[in-house]
Amino acid sequence: LEQQVIVSEKLSAIGKLAAGLAHEIRNPLTVIMGFVQMIRSQRLDPLTAKYMGYVYEELERVKNLVSDFVTMSKPSVPIVKPIKINEFLDNVLRVMEGQAALHDIRYVRDYQTTDEDILFADAAQIKQVLINILQNAVEASQPNEAVTLKTRKNRNHLIITISDNGSGISPENLTKIQNPFFTTKEHGTGLGLSVSYRIINNHHGEITIDSILGTGTDFNIHLPLTNILEECSL
Ligand code: ADP
Ligand code: MG
Repeated sequence: LEQQVIVSEKLSAIGKLAAGLAHEIRNPLTVIMGFVQMIRSQRLDPLTAKYMGYVYEELERVKNLVSDFVTMSKPSVPIVKPIKINEFLDNVLRVMEGQAALHDIRYVRDYQTTDEDILFADAAQIKQVLINILQNAVEASQPNEAVTLKTRKNRNHLIITISDNGSGISPENLTKIQNPFFTTKEHGTGLGLSVSYRIINNHHGEITIDSILGTGTDFNIHLPLTNILEECSL
């Protein structure tokens, strides 16, 4: 428990410091990414196209880092609204399409939810969780592999599963991946999963992981389908 308290103090201190800076970085970053996209849409020689691809990928990394910091510094009470699940997931995949193309990864949809199925949640926060987990799946995969986004429902929960056939996670690392700043990547921040766990906890949900080293990983996001949060605030 003592360790938990220290971790959360560390997070809020970093969060406060970073919040102001993060906002200042966001605006110019958006402008830069817009111009880079414009350049990439021109007819380019192959080498320039390749380099501009790298530039965009690195900018995206900065953008994710900034949004992870902003999430950490924000009050974490979700603003709950009804979300049409399938439409919402399609939107998230659309945002992540460029990233997948860059890594030669394709997304496979396996929705057992109907177009009418609704989730009560904070759309912006859940979107960030999905982006973090999808990005990890893409980064763990080899070119030409697929990343699958699956939905299913049991009696009171929606379960969203993101599967990859990538590197897998060792049992030892599995105990560490939700710690802030734990990363096995050269340029990783180690913030994506810690932020994601916090968001899902605040939604009274749960993340479970099935992973086999060398075979792949399933991230299961369990979210209550009843509007628990609104009932609490009544
Ligand atoms: P980062 O991506 O910046 O390293 P994360 O918190 O998103 O930080 O992830 C922490 C670590 O968890 C990663 O560095 C990686 O070792 C491991 N990990 C997460 N998702 C996967 C996955 N789908 N396959 C293999 N390893 C993963
Ligand atoms: Mg990550």
